[in-house]
Amino acid sequence: MRIDLHTHSSVSDGTEGPAQLLATASAAGLDVVALTDHDTTAGWAQAQAARPAGLTVVPGLELSCRWFPADRPPVSVHLLAYLFDPAHPGLAAELTRLRAERLSRGERIVGALAAAGYPVAWERVVAASGGGVVGRPHVARALVEAGVVGSVDEAFADLLHHRSPFHVAKADTDVLDGIRLVRAAGGVPVFAHGLATRRGRVVDDAAVAAMAGAGLLGLEVDHPDHGPAERDHLRGLAGELGLLTTGSSDYHGTNKTTPIAACTTHPAQYEALLAAGTGSAPLTD
Ligand code: AMP
Ligand code: FE
Ligand code: FE
Ligand code: ZN
Repeated sequence: MRIDLHTHSSVSDGTEGPAQLLATASAAGLDVVALTDHDTTAGWAQAQAARPAGLTVVPGLELSCRWFPADRPPVSVHLLAYLFDPAHPGLAAELTRLRAERLSRGERIVGALAAAGYPVAWERVVAASGGGVVGRPHVARALVEAGVVGSVDEAFADLLHHRSPFHVAKADTDVLDGIRLVRAAGGVPVFAHGLATRRGRVVDDAAVAAMAGAGLLGLEVDHPDHGPAERDHLRGLAGELGLLTTGSSDYHGTNKTTPIAACTTHPAQYEALLAAGTGSAPLTD
């Protein structure tokens, strides 16, 4: 069984629609794929309608969160959530708030870039998002289109970097609240790419322990942005805290260079995840 539990469609910041994404998953030989768009479940219905025979789809999302340390500025963290009830009022309201926040924050980034003389228009960013959830990758595509940079990667290396003067942080969900919301909706919360240092500052072990105390159920260990030392550390931490471990590609189509199924989840860990999720069911034959 080949299982990839973290992918993005064009409903957020991937480049393939849900149907194409599932076709890509099938062609790559996956048996199970999770659809985990940022802050939205809007792709679930399309995934259900287009699911190829033989492929199981785990409904999920990736929630934009923050960890608030006692003595340092907040740290941006991502929380994967699986098999929750998308109609849970508290969770649905928080997702609506996050999507609105992404729009206003995107407009502020574009406004600052335009004020500095970069020829980038908000309409082009919205067009790049295809009406889906807006993120920096769509600003990046608009910058490529305008000829400001040569590639999405180049945009992230400079103008859209979290240390760029044009960076605007989103008012993301407190991760402890996010974990409680996902659990309240019957879902399985898994801390995404927890030691991906190239994305910015990361949290310490005490933060992960606090998340486990709030109801976290898993750690994403095998991820393209984790090296061997980071994977070993997270696997050890999961053992200490009694958390399940996952592996996934974090596929974004051509917005990133990582292929689907670049990392995968052990079947026993997948079974544990299935057993813990009660808010919705996997889409399967
Ligand atoms: P945002 O959620 O709007 O802050 O944008 C962050 C998203 O940008 C992440 O979810 C990644 O998908 C994407 N991203 C981060 N770094 C890069 C990069 N170097 N190249 C392409 N996409 C990236
Ligand atoms: Fe993304
Ligand atoms: Fe992420
Ligand atoms: Zn992701």
